[in-house]
Amino acid sequence: MKTRIKEVFSSIQGEGPYIGYKQLFIRFCGCNLKCSYCDTDFDTKLSQEYTPQELAEIVNKNSDCHSISLTGGEPLLNESFLKAFLPLCKLPVYLETNATLPDKLIPVIEYIDIISADIKLPSCTGNNELWDLHDKFFNIAKHKNLFAKIVFNKNITDSEINSAAELGNKYNIVLVLQPQMSGIQPVIDKEFMELTLDKFLAKYKNVRLVPQVHKFLDIR
Ligand code: SF4
Repeated sequence: MKTRIKEVFSSIQGEGPYIGYKQLFIRFCGCNLKCSYCDTDFDTKLSQEYTPQELAEIVNKNSDCHSISLTGGEPLLNESFLKAFLPLCKLPVYLETNATLPDKLIPVIEYIDIISADIKLPSCTGNNELWDLHDKFFNIAKHKNLFAKIVFNKNITDSEINSAAELGNKYNIVLVLQPQMSGIQPVIDKEFMELTLDKFLAKYKNVRLVPQVHKFLDIR
């Protein structure tokens, strides 16, 4: 069994509560969503195919890393490969996911330690509402070290804030508000960020405003 990997590289986690940890990033190809702000390069020209054993051999040479970050695209589209690959890894496993494929999480969840799950807001992504899928996903992921990341811009609605806060409350998880960026600049001003944070905090206390730090530092 082989799967196509866009790139493998070590860098510093730049988002959410694990900012600053060195990770080995494994970027999978392809995604099931099309978010309007997506900056992922989906060109597979420089990608490479790996067997689970070949990829695990690379992982296990990087013992200075805090964990491996499964990223993409959407890593869970490769759940059969992950099921063979993850048991071979000697580092903790951190999954970055759009949290819309609950059925694909089930076969691999036992191998995952930390889950960075997106809550996708239609006002920001341009996608349809995904609340039911997020709810199903979180229900499966809730026994892991789970937090949710919410990219937002000036279009965020009070109804979205209510629904996201309800999910946070139901699963007792940290909600990380992440302003949408354009290059190294947030697309919204400081006042709007503070206002949005306050609106969340009025509904749910475990909310943090954390920008994408790797963009300020000009690292990958
Ligand atoms: S889920 Fe992530 S990788 Fe997929 S389209 Fe949205 S931003 Fe891009």
